[in-house]
Amino acid sequence: MTSQNSNPASRLLAWGQAVVHARYVNESRAKLLESLGIQRIGDLLHHAPYRYLDLTSTAQLGAVQPGEATVVGSVYEVVKRTTRGRGGRRLTITEVTLIDGTGTLIGVWFNQPWVEASYKQGQTLAFSGDVKYRNGFKQIIQPFVEKIADSPQESSEPDEGRHMGKVLPVHSTTEGLSVGWLRRLIAAAVDDYAQVSEYLPIDILQRRGLVSYGWALRRLHFPKQLEEAQTARERLAYGELLDLQLLIARRRYRMTSETSGYVHIPFGFLHQALTEKLPFALTEDQDQAVSEILDDMASKHPMQRLLLGDVGTGKTVVAAYALAVAADSGGQATMMAPTEVLAQQYANKLGPLFDEIGLTWGLLTGSTTAADKKILLQQLTSGGVKVLFGTHALLEEDVQFQHMTLAIVDEQHRFGVQQRKTLHAKGESADVLVMSATPIPRTLTLTAFGDLAASYLRARPIAGAGITTRKIKFSKIASAYDAVHAAIKEGRQAYIVCALVDESSKIEAQSAVQMMEELAAGEFSDCRVEVLTGKMKPVEKACIMDQFHAGKIDILVSTTVIEVGVDVHNATTMLILDADRYGLAQLHQLRGRVGRGQHAGEVWLVSDSFSEAAKERFEALLSTDDGFRLAELDLKQRGAGELLGTRQSGIAKLKIADLSRDDELIELARQDAFALIAEDFTLSSPELALLRTRIDALEAKYETWKVAG
Ligand code: ADP
Ligand code: MG
Repeated sequence: MTSQNSNPASRLLAWGQAVVHARYVNESRAKLLESLGIQRIGDLLHHAPYRYLDLTSTAQLGAVQPGEATVVGSVYEVVKRTTRGRGGRRLTITEVTLIDGTGTLIGVWFNQPWVEASYKQGQTLAFSGDVKYRNGFKQIIQPFVEKIADSPQESSEPDEGRHMGKVLPVHSTTEGLSVGWLRRLIAAAVDDYAQVSEYLPIDILQRRGLVSYGWALRRLHFPKQLEEAQTARERLAYGELLDLQLLIARRRYRMTSETSGYVHIPFGFLHQALTEKLPFALTEDQDQAVSEILDDMASKHPMQRLLLGDVGTGKTVVAAYALAVAADSGGQATMMAPTEVLAQQYANKLGPLFDEIGLTWGLLTGSTTAADKKILLQQLTSGGVKVLFGTHALLEEDVQFQHMTLAIVDEQHRFGVQQRKTLHAKGESADVLVMSATPIPRTLTLTAFGDLAASYLRARPIAGAGITTRKIKFSKIASAYDAVHAAIKEGRQAYIVCALVDESSKIEAQSAVQMMEELAAGEFSDCRVEVLTGKMKPVEKACIMDQFHAGKIDILVSTTVIEVGVDVHNATTMLILDADRYGLAQLHQLRGRVGRGQHAGEVWLVSDSFSEAAKERFEALLSTDDGFRLAELDLKQRGAGELLGTRQSGIAKLKIADLSRDDELIELARQDAFALIAEDFTLSSPELALLRTRIDALEAKYETWKVAG
């Protein structure tokens, strides 16, 4: 250990140094580490193992029983052979046989011929995996392998032979940096830099039963027993979540002490007129959401609220109230949709209602003509138009309001942070309402969107006749076609969704067109078949949708452009081809297009995929229609990053906490963080000094991290 990191404070400082300064890390290793996302010494310390190999009590080969186990033995032989597998396909089998004097066990690999060259007779290996009997031998198929010692002559790995009796961490690594070497680099870093002072106040540690920071860092990587790794992980995950929640709590605190928001006045003329003219009463959820939104709008603090509700839960009506109140209060409002179809649908749904109560409105999209746009923009700057619906065309520079006080953004995850900022900047401290039909799990609303208050619409105002979802193979597609024929005979309509998700949108559109032509010429030659793709001109799309609405099209072949917002109650049957290509949330949104009206819906998921993940998704869809439950499952399957798109938020920085399983820790960290900030916003008390330094630094780093506005 060098003198520069001989005390806890200087060790902590060293965390900020480039990783090349860590022991055994030279320039080339630093490059490899960087490709793993490890730039600084602190990152190296927080590169958590993804699994452990428990060598504290390995079973002898003669005694090991079927089931999960870790065993150690020396390689007796390595054999590769080729046979014919099912269907006559060539199959390469590699077998590595271990012996230890009490028995033997064989590791088996299929179609991984390179395994043969990886292991040699005489090496000592640990195998970990599921032990099974086959042909009288104990086997592990595709075991996880750790080289314990090379054959005596050659040795390329550090620390070999010193692993027995230990719990070995396995860190994800990259080509050119072996698991053994990475382990050594981390061991050195842990020795040199992990002995740091505790930064959490003692009462939190006690209340939450958490171990100290330094101990957790050391035992995360090198636990003496497997349970210690779990205890360590929990402490570090809590720490990360507390950091995040403290940042969120501070922002919330600042926001609520900021008084620059526009003070809207609810219960004005338009508000009341809207209630009178609505052909139905609001549901309890809608009522609650409206009052939460109007409370925010009426306050002197800027609104930052999320309105969450599955397709068909009635978000549009809730938004209408906010729009009306903005106009009532002398402001203007805008509502941005991710697609032209959806923007048009707002206008169709709310336009007539607004006309009736005398609320002026306009629609601006990419297909608005120049002449229309000119007039619209004039009315906008003069204040003649109070509500503007639109697509990203709203973001253009020449769109200027007289006084915009409310911005509503639908399906926000489809817009970048920058786009939302641009829209927001067109007003003066405009209130912001973000709507999403993707039911975001609570763990995410508390973290990624943690500084937005959320309103939930859970119940559907119109129960609908319900949906039956089935899964079939392509060879059985005739039965799905029969269902389409039957529906059309009854006067209903159908969707056939076919998308090559991985291909470019151009190829995808082509394939949909091709599909439409095939179906129109063959199976459905007696029906009116049309196609809708994202590549079509907006006017063409609108025209097709109008015809579909009017019942002039029987079957709409489409790409996923119908996913969002399309609402044709007479359409009852949907075929989703290659359904395995879609995520859970997307499949759920797609099927939400049918069965919401008076007619029962039928969804046919058509797929030949054998993948476990696809199977799980189908099972989930067949078992529940609850969007929030499916969203939780989606989160577990795909992880948070993918669900949210790019690194648009601080959760990308979470290295140890896992939003798909740490629900409880999130709640605890949130409680603690909000309590700390409520009591002491600047964290000024002496026992919080280290925590304050940490959070101030993080805040400076995430300066640019903003979720909305
Ligand atoms: P979302 O935008 O959340 O998908 P919508 O606002 O389009 O849902 O509402 C879905 C359907 O339910 C629409 O046809 C709408 O008119 C209707 N609706 C909304 N709220 C109610 C209500 N409280 N009672 C009856 N019907 C409602
Ligand atoms: Mg306000």
